[in-house]
Amino acid sequence: MKFVKFLLVAAFAVSLSLGSAMAESCCVKAKAAGKNCEHKCCVEARKESKTCDKCQKEASCCDKAIAKGKDCSHPCCVDAAKDKKACEKCNKKKEA
Ligand SMILES: [Zn+2]
Ligand SMILES: [Zn+2]
Ligand SMILES: [Zn+2]
Ligand SMILES: [Zn+2]
Repeated sequence: MKFVKFLLVAAFAVSLSLGSAMAESCCVKAKAAGKNCEHKCCVEARKESKTCDKCQKEASCCDKAIAKGKDCSHPCCVDAAKDKKACEKCNKKKEA
């Protein structure tokens, strides 16, 4: 029982660290969860079919697709979306 709990905690920690290592925008994250980003700035940007200047500064292919109200058609992104994830290849952390 204790071991199972440890596994759960470890899995949670890993998902947290993965989350912070990723640099997908709030919009890509929301899209991966099957939602639309609810940030006011992003909603406004989407209305004009644009990427949000604040949150999607470094717009990935997925950010651009979201701006157009579409799903990104890259095979890697489609695969990631199937897993309800943002594509790690295209939504990479900014190089230092
Ligand atoms: Zn957003
Ligand atoms: Zn925004
Ligand atoms: Zn993409
Ligand atoms: Zn991709």
